[in-house]
Amino acid sequence: MLLAKAGVDVHVFEKKPYVGGRTSTLELDGGFKFDLGPTFFLYTRVLEELYRTVGKEFRDEVEMVRLDPQYRLLFGAGGQIDATGDIERMSAEIAAISPEDKDGFARYMEENQDKLERFRPVLEKAFNSWLDLIDPAFLKALPMLRPTKSVDQDLQRYFSDERVRLAFTFQSKYLGMSPFRCPSLFTIVSHLEYAYGVWHPMGGCAAVSQNMAKVATELGAQIHLDEGVDELIFEGKRVVGIRTKTGEHRADAVVMNADFAHAMTNLVPDKKRKRWTDKKLDKKKYSCSTYMLYLGLDKKYDTQHHTIYIPEQYAEVMEDIEDRQVLSDHPAVYVQNPGVTDPSMAPEGKSALYVLVPVTHQSENVDWSVQRTAYREKVLDVVETVFGMEDIRDHIVAEKIVTPDDWSAVYHVHKGATFNLAHGLDQMLHLRPRNRFDEIPGMYLVGGGTHPGSGLPVIYEGARITSKLLTKDLGVSFDWTVPEPAPASVPATNPKPADGTRGYDEVA
Ligand SMILES: Cc1cc2nc3c(=O)[nH]c(=O)nc-3n(C[C@H](O)[C@H](O)[C@H](O)COP(=O)(O)OP(=O)(O)OC[C@H]3O[C@@H](n4cnc5c(N)ncnc54)[C@H](O)[C@@H]3O)c2cc1C
Repeated sequence: MLLAKAGVDVHVFEKKPYVGGRTSTLELDGGFKFDLGPTFFLYTRVLEELYRTVGKEFRDEVEMVRLDPQYRLLFGAGGQIDATGDIERMSAEIAAISPEDKDGFARYMEENQDKLERFRPVLEKAFNSWLDLIDPAFLKALPMLRPTKSVDQDLQRYFSDERVRLAFTFQSKYLGMSPFRCPSLFTIVSHLEYAYGVWHPMGGCAAVSQNMAKVATELGAQIHLDEGVDELIFEGKRVVGIRTKTGEHRADAVVMNADFAHAMTNLVPDKKRKRWTDKKLDKKKYSCSTYMLYLGLDKKYDTQHHTIYIPEQYAEVMEDIEDRQVLSDHPAVYVQNPGVTDPSMAPEGKSALYVLVPVTHQSENVDWSVQRTAYREKVLDVVETVFGMEDIRDHIVAEKIVTPDDWSAVYHVHKGATFNLAHGLDQMLHLRPRNRFDEIPGMYLVGGGTHPGSGLPVIYEGARITSKLLTKDLGVSFDWTVPEPAPASVPATNPKPADGTRGYDEVA
């Protein structure tokens, strides 16, 4: 979208017969529709800006519904929280399970808003070398980084009850990391949810990918589906094009969106790389993976849109995933039931249930050919007993299982690490693969493997960073100033919430 708007002749070559990658739709017989991957849409501000940059209003293009409560948290240790950005209601939810933590929420929100404001310039710029670390924006944000603290340690400043902390730390899993290890910078992720909302794009998250493809096409980009890149064409060190089933396609620049480590090991000869050789990639830290059940049910369940179960043994579960790399006996199960918000996801009187369990990325300790069905039983036991769906097994009429092996083999995700390279400080900023890929002249990166990192809003920001670098290198002048929003375009489904939480108006 951005490059086409800037006047660049853009051709997108996509291996699958549909757009969106992990942000696409999975359909099962009987009219059941699922998000394949992402289900939480956060911080729409970035998309708002990208759309406005190309002369569109995101809100006019995709219908977005803000969820309130944004999700229900069920604690294995007892109690539950219906999470909401409304300070008063959320403080009451917290007080119900831990009275002494009641006032922590308002303080957490205030301090993290400040943290976000300070860190935003860092997330919005390219990190081309370690010299960028002495940039004023980064130095200003540095004290907030608390580099030696984890998300969980930082949250102890606000909340004494472990369950309450978990309500604000489990989001580290979006980055594929344990909150006990994830750098404290990322307390801003849960803040983004509370301050700017958790949104559901009507039709599922793929509606956003599909709309971006439509807009890009309108702007002149050509999208070639079912036409994967088989080979990169090099002249000396420089990449000068790609080869697909229809032949050679020469270009002034190649932007790579495929999963970084997968593409490096499959498309770029090892001898052309120094920092990211196969051997070095093997030593990098990767995010967790996910075990998925997509269930079509001939019964309507009215559970929350998002429900997350956090077992009492959560710290142990994180160690199972990251350190021992084994399957946990206490799965932390997340269930999405989008039909309660969006009738297009399941036929009348039925439910399309998305069940996700964070698990280790591919490891020799887990044989998924055995666990594919064995783990299903364990996970369904949790859904039955904890989520109050005792009869679920009797109502499954369509089903698909996706394991880390499938993420790797079918969706081309290295080690099945669905959230890409981990986000420890040793693999961030200039230490992450760079947007202007310095190993290969002519190559640029987008997606979760480059700066700023994984997760949709961040990935969209990364696309803007890369587009700015690329237009500059191509000598294409483009005004990147984001135009003011068009006030008349706010659709009725997205008013500013009356309860004082932030709506589209503030985000815009
Ligand atoms: C189960 C799950 C749940 C998630 N939940 C959330 C969430 O709630 N919120 C959130 O923000 N994030 C979430 N994520 C993370 C999010 O999905 C990813 O960070 C993001 O989608 C990755 O985008 P990407 O562009 O890097 O990769 P992808 O979306 O995988 O895109 C890469 C594209 O490259 C294509 N490709 C690969 N090889 C080739 C080739 N040789 N030639 C041509 N094309 C090729 C692929 O087909 C694909 O379309 C989730 C991920 C998963 C798997």
